[in-house]
Amino acid sequence: MAQGGGWFSTHVKTSHPCDVVIANGSECEPLLANDKVLMEEEASLIVEGLKWAVKATGNKRGGVIALKGKGSKAELALLEAVKNEQEIEIFNLGDYYPVGDEFILVQGVTGRVVPERDIPLSIGAVVLNVETLRNVTQAVQGKPVIERTLTSQGKVRRPSVLRMGTPFWEVFEQCWGVTVSDYMTLVGGPMMGSVVSDPLTPVTKATTGLFVLPKDHTFVRKKTLPLPFIIKQSKASCCQCTYCTEFCPCYLLEHDLAPHKIMRQINLRLDVPPQVVESAFLCSGCGLCEIFVCPMELSPE
Ligand code: SF4
Ligand code: SF4
Repeated sequence: MAQGGGWFSTHVKTSHPCDVVIANGSECEPLLANDKVLMEEEASLIVEGLKWAVKATGNKRGGVIALKGKGSKAELALLEAVKNEQEIEIFNLGDYYPVGDEFILVQGVTGRVVPERDIPLSIGAVVLNVETLRNVTQAVQGKPVIERTLTSQGKVRRPSVLRMGTPFWEVFEQCWGVTVSDYMTLVGGPMMGSVVSDPLTPVTKATTGLFVLPKDHTFVRKKTLPLPFIIKQSKASCCQCTYCTEFCPCYLLEHDLAPHKIMRQINLRLDVPPQVVESAFLCSGCGLCEIFVCPMELSPE
């Protein structure tokens, strides 16, 4: 039933006691509009689903709906929906990337840091996407999950937010067609998304957004580079400026991840402790170091 990008099962997440359930309405990826539209249009169903999740986990603090955009239509709709609810609060997050990442979100709402290689439950938090909570309410009402909200953007004639479970080409038809002849689809979002070429690929419950880009777009080029080429590029031009580490959200949460050290090991084959390379598993894949930070346009992630 889960509709977040991670696909974790809702019944597993809510089967343990916790201190707080956080409804994630902060849409991690830029340009996605799913959560915003849902909160504007179906706020009461989201609040109802959150109450079910709070009940299932028997928690102390109740539920928190975390979103960006103070004073937005979404916030006003939610405030109206919670006006008689004692156990639900609205939490305004700063508008920065990657505030919707589960670890960053939990730190923002609770002030506590989820330890490395662990999950929010380890510090008493459960995070559920707002669409998942809408689905919880619908499930209680007897409606199965057969559709999802999807943002379709980029080189389509009418960027739209659609609900469906169909092949990509049909999504684009509903957006009045694609405006370039040679295109690729970025699935997910510009930061963490992956490139798909087959228009017959179906929308799944984890498909949050489709971005139609010309085949020669920078993002398409960067995300389809073969690994041996990336390594050669890195050996030739990583200047060890350390920016990739200084801006890394995991490093800023004081997790033991330093991408510039991993680059150093890959490039120079130094005999660094194995933990340095293993720390790559702590990477959330947010893409900041690659898309925004590295002055050499390398891929430290
Ligand atoms: S930001 Fe780029 S150039 Fe600087 S250390 Fe990281 S990978 Fe190397
Ligand atoms: S993608 Fe880069 S910035 Fe993001 S968590 Fe991984 S190493 Fe850090």
